[in-house]
Amino acid sequence: MSEPRVLPRWLPQTLTQWIGVAVVAGIALGLAAHQDPAVAKAVAPLAFFGELFIRCLKLLIIPVIVTSLVVGVTSIGDIARLGRLGGKALVFYGSTTALAAILGLVLVNTLQPGLGVSPDGADVPAKAAAGAGMTVGSMLSRIFGETLLNPIASLRDGDVLTVIATCLLFGLGLILLGPRAQGIVDAFKKADAVVMQVVRNIMWVAPLGVLGLLQANLAKGGLDSLLAVGRYSVTVALGLGIHGLIVLPAIVWFVGRMAPRRWIRGIRPAIAVAFSTSSSSATLPVTIEACEDNLDVPTEVASFVLPLGATMNMDGTALYEAVAALFVAQVFGIELDLTQQVVVFATAMAASVGAAGIPSAGLVTMAMVFEAVGLPLEGIGLILAVDRFLDMGRTVVNVMGDTAGAVVLTRWTGAERV
Ligand code: ASP
Repeated sequence: MSEPRVLPRWLPQTLTQWIGVAVVAGIALGLAAHQDPAVAKAVAPLAFFGELFIRCLKLLIIPVIVTSLVVGVTSIGDIARLGRLGGKALVFYGSTTALAAILGLVLVNTLQPGLGVSPDGADVPAKAAAGAGMTVGSMLSRIFGETLLNPIASLRDGDVLTVIATCLLFGLGLILLGPRAQGIVDAFKKADAVVMQVVRNIMWVAPLGVLGLLQANLAKGGLDSLLAVGRYSVTVALGLGIHGLIVLPAIVWFVGRMAPRRWIRGIRPAIAVAFSTSSSSATLPVTIEACEDNLDVPTEVASFVLPLGATMNMDGTALYEAVAALFVAQVFGIELDLTQQVVVFATAMAASVGAAGIPSAGLVTMAMVFEAVGLPLEGIGLILAVDRFLDMGRTVVNVMGDTAGAVVLTRWTGAERV
């Protein structure tokens, strides 16, 4: 993360520092505006920056889904072709991510961090439907009824479920065509790299977005909204803690047959780098080294399983996206029935596969979860202030999940521990 120094020394240098400044300023201005109408009037134009940031996210949704899902699916095809190790890695990563997303859903439904706050004047979409008398059949027909539509119209209308379904089918087609479609796969990979660069660039608008959205939310909701965001952060942190300190160690112990203490000790350097960079990809070299040197994972397992994990296995991201979606639904008073929660689960899984291992990637792919169940993207404004800090925690859990995969696959493949 070496950005050239272009700012005077006394100013914040990194994006995270700028966001920190924006959080403090946004809270101060928002609370002052809540108290005093004159301040409210003076700072109201700042809300424009929040709107600008949300618009940037909206602009990115479709390009991010299309490029990252197609690339994700085609790389899964490559992996499956790599035989048994690939298949096992996919099963392990898929099931641990699913566990994390379910844990997030259970916690947010139980703790209900978004209850009791109402964003005044918010435009609540009436998409919630009654869940009574629902059968698996009616649930499936509802999901597919909203999914299998005209893909071109859906691209134009930003109808996310159809776009996801189309990309999955298109990716499958590319896998089946194999070398004959390689040119298209390569083009998608390049397009994906470009989109990710655009995401990185747009994230520089985030501090202004945080300032604008935070002050606007607090000006309306006062301390209540701040407390709700606090409860939301605690819910995410609790979920990450349970997954990272109970679920994954149990899996490492019972399935990977390695003492959890040894595992955690061995991956400490990777945890530290993940926490400070918020990027699984940037952490990858340290993750590989830690697994090989401290956990005796053979190179052939580590060099395959860990890069794969850093790009597609994101337990922390899936958990956080599920919690964030339901939190925003609770704040806006939108009841998400079982079918819609299944959609949240599935899209959070897809979004975690689609998220690149870079800072804030999960925030951008989260927009697709919101769109899929009709949540207002403005809700992202509520959680934006704390996102950068939660990103550190979820990246740690993402990397822990990758290393758990390396330990378990070493055992499953019966590879010799050196
Ligand atoms: N920063 C995370 C990672 O690199 C992805 C995310 O934003 O959730 O693992």
